[in-house]
Amino acid sequence: MGKTLFEKIIAREIPAAIVYEDDSVLAFRDINPQAPVHVLIVPKKLIPRIAEATAADQNLLGQLLLKAAEVADKVGLKKGGYRLVINNGTDGGETVPHLHVHILGGRHMAWPPG
Ligand code: AMP
Repeated sequence: MGKTLFEKIIAREIPAAIVYEDDSVLAFRDINPQAPVHVLIVPKKLIPRIAEATAADQNLLGQLLLKAAEVADKVGLKKGGYRLVINNGTDGGETVPHLHVHILGGRHMAWPPG
């Protein structure tokens, strides 16, 4: 199976504006931002979507959320707030089959989402 788009970004085969990296996760600016600040944070391990995560991924999923909050702070969103989004499957709006958390901020987020 070929690499996912995000595996190629992790491997530096496709350029991205990286804002955070450690052994487990990578965060980079979304190429088509839906808010003044729009960052994606992905686990380096390929989990296609949250529905396919298993109990073995529990620590990694915890890290992903904790790091999402850290990255939100790093890109200036802590004070004003932000939204974290995970799209799962067709109806969820998922387009890249590599688990990622959207970090959106810099404007007020409407509810319910579209
Ligand atoms: P989703 O629709 O939840 O699967 O989110 C995929 C996200 O990846 C979308 O918001 C896209 O704009 C974003 N995206 C696609 N290609 C790239 C890229 N090369 N660099 C950064 N973000 C990308």
